[in-house]
Amino acid sequence: MSSYYVNKNAQSTGEHEVHESNCLYLPDSVNRVYLGEFSSCHGAVEESKKNHYQNSDGCFYCSRPCHTR
Ligand SMILES: [Zn+2]
Repeated sequence: MSSYYVNKNAQSTGEHEVHESNCLYLPDSVNRVYLGEFSSCHGAVEESKKNHYQNSDGCFYCSRPCHTR
């Protein structure tokens, strides 16, 4: 299991990126929301879409299977 976070700030294209806690591109603590522990990025992106930002997507670097844009 890994800890996942979503960026409070949207990308220029409108989506909020979901990151694993060890990602190089993890936003600063003030700019991220803790999503929880998940076995893969899929559950984390689902959680983010349901309870935080409907427009969420996985980070290209740490969550590539969930990166769709
Ligand atoms: Zn990332």
